[in-house]
This record gives sequence, structure tokens and C-alpha cells, in this order.
Amino acid sequence: MHSRNNFSPMLIASLLAVSSLPAMAQETQEAFQSCLSRLQPSAQRAGVQPDTFKRNMDGVQADFTLLEKLNYQPEFKLPIWDYLSGLVDDERVSDGLAGLQRHAEVLKRIEAKYEVDAATVVAVWGVESNYGRITGKYPLVQALGTLACFGRRQSYFQGEFYAALRILQRGDIAPERLNGSWAGAFGHTQFMPQTYERLAVDFDGDGRRDLVDNSDDALASTANFLHKGGWRNGLPWGVEVKLPAGFDSNQAGRKNKRAVSDWVSSGLTLVDGRPLNASGIANDEKAGLLMLAGSNGPVFLATKNFDVIYGYNAAESYGLAIAHLSDRLRGGGAFKTAWPTDDPGISRAERRELQTLLAAKRHDIGEIDGMLGEKSRAAIKIEQARLGQTVNGRGGLKILQALRAGQ
Ligand code: CA
Repeated sequence: MHSRNNFSPMLIASLLAVSSLPAMAQETQEAFQSCLSRLQPSAQRAGVQPDTFKRNMDGVQADFTLLEKLNYQPEFKLPIWDYLSGLVDDERVSDGLAGLQRHAEVLKRIEAKYEVDAATVVAVWGVESNYGRITGKYPLVQALGTLACFGRRQSYFQGEFYAALRILQRGDIAPERLNGSWAGAFGHTQFMPQTYERLAVDFDGDGRRDLVDNSDDALASTANFLHKGGWRNGLPWGVEVKLPAGFDSNQAGRKNKRAVSDWVSSGLTLVDGRPLNASGIANDEKAGLLMLAGSNGPVFLATKNFDVIYGYNAAESYGLAIAHLSDRLRGGGAFKTAWPTDDPGISRAERRELQTLLAAKRHDIGEIDGMLGEKSRAAIKIEQARLGQTVNGRGGLKILQALRAGQ
């Protein structure tokens, strides 16, 4: 569950033009302390006792590096095939299968109570936090306190800041364990604090809703999120389809839902040519066309269950990653249709290999972690220029193959 930059680059540019000077001048630790004093009474009205506020905020300094992240604009939009090749690779599938096995008993009880199948719950877990391995390292009240006082979404972050303090007040999670993403999502499920308050559950019955150190609570809370979002167990999230020749792409769109029988009349079939209802989605079910890379890429009919997954993260690419991972965990294969590119995305194992090859060429790429950050992208650019490839800093199959071949 990530807080996203929803502003267009144009709007950001104009916002910065009018506000950057005064905002910069105020970004001091003194300004942070006086902001905290200003916020304390409203925190109290929101249920945060003064001693809770004092105990957790005394001596905390603002982290101004977060404001750069808040305003960060990627130099190019990561193509959908890069997202998916990193989020749904063989490693994440085999880790997920191991998780399904290890937690089989609790997942069965979770499905009985919340009516969400194990593969879906585990797929959310895998995409959100790599099965609890990557949950974020930012102390939550410091991060949310900073964003509540500076930057362009202060009132949103104030609500989350107060919720984080209430979590500490109740003692559900110890202060030193309440760390998360720079924007405040934390734990195995990457819930924001207010989502936590609304939807986290204590499934192991120890009296604490612990999404940081207790996977039973985390898996059940994920299921509760999907259940409350309207999940219907047994209904597939969607299926890959084949469009008829001359199909009008204007009919696409997740929200542009029509009955499956209607899509049948328009000439759609499953991608292998069988009729749509062979997928287990009934003819009177409503579904929308998910076309994330044009009509030449993989196209899906997505049911209301896809919308429920979408609700977790509010991005169709992430929703598709979770949905596809759940299919892979049920034994399904890769998409039948290739992405429309001559430079496909690469898995995390291949990203580590690419980083190793770059390091061997004496580029400083930092830790070899399979995440292509700023340093890796800068090194890729230099190599792309040397090789006469398009210089965009993107780590795909082309640059990997060239370096592998010793070019
Ligand atoms: Ca618990």
C-alpha cells in the first residue's frame, strides 16, 4: 500500500514555481519543533494523549530527505513489463509456494473466516513486502511527523501521523519495531496506520494486532482487507483473452464493465481460443478489459475481484502483479501473449547478474541487491552509450545480453 504521486509533472512544476522558495527557507529543525508544538493539540483531539506525544516525539528530528522522495519524478515511466518481471519472477513464485506450505494450516483457518483463498492472500504478501522480508526501515513517527509538517500533502500525513501515535499508545507494536516505507506503510502487509486501525486483526489471539512480527496477524489482516473490499471467493480475478480482428480499443478500461456474454458477442475468446465461460467466469458476470500495453500486448478481462486487489495499491500494474502471482501460485503459467517490446524486462536474479557485470566493469553500483537504483541506472547509461544502445538507464534484456557476451 503505497502513497503515490498523483500529480502530473506539469502541475508539480507550477506548484514548485510558486512555493519552493518559502518552503525551502522553513525546512529547519526549529521549524519542525514548532510545527510539532502546533500539531500536539490536534493530535490530542484525535485521541493521542499528551504523554504519548511527548514520549514518542521528544528528541525526534525531521528527515528532510523524505521531501525529495515526495517530489521525486522518474525520468522515464517504468514500462509495465519491467514492473512485472521484477515482481513476478521464478524466485517470488517458489518463495510463495514455500510460504503456502509453511502457513497452510493458518491460511486454511483464514480462508474459513474471511473467505479469501490462500493463493490470493500470499500473492499480496509477496508483492507488498516480499513475504515479510522488505518492510521498510524508516522510523514511522519520524517519517510521518516530517511529512505532516513539510511538503505538499501535510493534512493527509497528519491523519496518518496521529494514527501511528495511537498505535504506539495502545501498545500493539513496540516503538522500535514501528518502521516502514518513507511514506508510512509498514509491516508484512504494508498498511498505512489508518488502514491498520480500520482493518488489522489479532488472529493468533495474543491481544495485539502485530503486523510487523507476527505473520498470522499479517496474513489474516490482508484477508480481512480483501474481504471488506468485497472479495468473492471462487470468482477468478480475470483471464487473458484474445481480441477479434478490428477490435475497437476504446472499449477497454477496468471500469468499463459489461456482461461476459456481451464480450462473447463482440468476438472475444480466451487467449487459447476457447469460449470465455470456460474460465469459470459466468456469462452474466460483469468484467472490464485491462489493456495495459495496447492491443498488441497481453489483454485481460478483469472481474470485480480485480478491483478489490486494485484497492490495495491503487495502481493497475501492481494489481496485475498480485493477480498474476496468485495464478502462478495456483500452478498457472506465464502470459500467453508477449509484451510489445524487443527489450523485455528481467527478473531479480538477472538484475543481480547485471549489477555484478556492471561492478566488474568498475562501476560503483552500491550493493548488489537486484534493485536497479540511481547508481545502477547511471552505470547502465554509460554502458548503453558505449554500446550504441538507446540511453535511458533501463535495465532490460538487451543490456544484460550485451554485457554477458563480453561486449
Ligand atoms: Ca496477535
